[in-house]
Amino acid sequence: MFINGEFITVSTQGTLSVINPATEELLGQVGRGTKRDVQFAVEAARNAFCDWRKTPAAERAALLHKVANDIRAHHDEIVRLLTQEEGKPIPESDEELWWSEETFDYYAELGRHDRGEVIPPGDPAQFNFVLKEPLGVVGCIVPWNYPLLLMTWKVAPALAAGNTVVIKPSKLTPLSTLRLAEVAFSHLPKGVVNIVTGLGTEVGEPLVNHPDVSMIAFTGSLAIGQRIARLAGPKMKKLHLELGGKDPMVIASDVEIKMAVRGLAYAALLNTGQVCTSTERVYVHESIYPQLTEELADFISKLRLGNGLDASTDIGPMIRDHFREKVEMQLEEALGDGARIITGGSRPTEFDRGFFLQPTLIVNVDHSMRIMQEETFGPVIPLMSYKSFDEAIDLANDSPYGLGASLMSNDARLVKRFYEDVKAGTIWINDPLTDNFAGPFGGMKMSGLGRELGQVGFDEFCQVKHVHWDIEGEEKAYWFPY
Ligand code: NAD
Repeated sequence: MFINGEFITVSTQGTLSVINPATEELLGQVGRGTKRDVQFAVEAARNAFCDWRKTPAAERAALLHKVANDIRAHHDEIVRLLTQEEGKPIPESDEELWWSEETFDYYAELGRHDRGEVIPPGDPAQFNFVLKEPLGVVGCIVPWNYPLLLMTWKVAPALAAGNTVVIKPSKLTPLSTLRLAEVAFSHLPKGVVNIVTGLGTEVGEPLVNHPDVSMIAFTGSLAIGQRIARLAGPKMKKLHLELGGKDPMVIASDVEIKMAVRGLAYAALLNTGQVCTSTERVYVHESIYPQLTEELADFISKLRLGNGLDASTDIGPMIRDHFREKVEMQLEEALGDGARIITGGSRPTEFDRGFFLQPTLIVNVDHSMRIMQEETFGPVIPLMSYKSFDEAIDLANDSPYGLGASLMSNDARLVKRFYEDVKAGTIWINDPLTDNFAGPFGGMKMSGLGRELGQVGFDEFCQVKHVHWDIEGEEKAYWFPY
């Protein structure tokens, strides 16, 4: 663990093994933290907060730019480690790390841009302004699918706003986060960034419960997000929750089919379908449905599965066997209810190790099936056809989630209708899953609370204080007695 600027190797509860999902080989071991480790880390962060919040914004910015550059200096090595512990192919890890480095630069600048606003006073002799202030210690709880990116989207704005942080990475992918501490966070003042490793129940919950943690920024599953909300609610902690999704893609009749096929395959199979905004439900206009199905099956059956470290790999393994089993169970249930697999659906036979699953195209599905309702988080593309655009919009909205939604069309009327009527935090037209540093990211409905990225993603890590100042300091006619 990394606490108060030091790497602490003592852990009263032993260690947790981290394995490579492509080879099932042991990559390393980390401490299985306890409540005591959390207390130690929060204390370090609380002590560091006193100076960090008062550090001039330009100095904080310089330090955050240095973090970005220190990571860049070790870019290739960290990319490799990310692929080894998470499984995604090297180009995807490369992109994840690039985004993480740039996020530190982006918030370094944004953090020195404004500290609030001056508002019109009620009387000319008064001065009113609104201060944006840091909250204090922020607990950042991160999932395994984008361990560095999703950590950075919390830590960079939190630090830029003057908070200090305690990071809890997933037990499946803590190594790249700890490596960032070695190469970059260790150059920050002691206690500004701390990392505790371990299980959600043993380290995550004590972090949520700790009275000196003012805010929890969490990305993960809906169930754990609800658990955190139940724990943090009575303590009135600020919550930032990025939860699950069941993102739809609508493919209109005017598209070029080859483009739609490649875009859809990318949206559904990036990181083996283990993206919160993976396309998990597809609605295709009936006029192009047969041809698109055929071309899609042909395209995805040629994608190359393998170890993410191999340059020829398009699709890596899933993170663990039980996640693969969940996908297989959804497929099996759907098949039992009349669905049909066009291609994929099995574990490839060419690997004797690793949690691989073939990219799968499944048709004859409907919304009574779990595969069209619950998060799948695997390499599966369920396809339905639609007749009218009204029907497509209704289908897209028929989900408890509202994270992202994609449309493939060049018809401006359909595009406008889609972005106005589909309830999702991000709408992608013709370029699914592309983020923007200045574009808020987050979900509607059960997909979460709050937004990351952009100015909004900075303000989430601030609290506002209204200052009302009567400069003349004279008695007021409206005071007692009436
Ligand atoms: P998860 O909810 O199992 O775990 C997320 C983190 O929470 C881990 O660090 C875990 O150790 C910790 N945790 C577990 N139990 C806890 C508890 N009781 N108290 C505090 N912390 C606890 O999620 P996961 O399997 O790591 O990630 C996959 C999920 O994340 C998917 O549902 C996916 O949709 C979601 N996700 C959402 C977004 C988004 O931005 N909306 C992005 C990526 C992933």
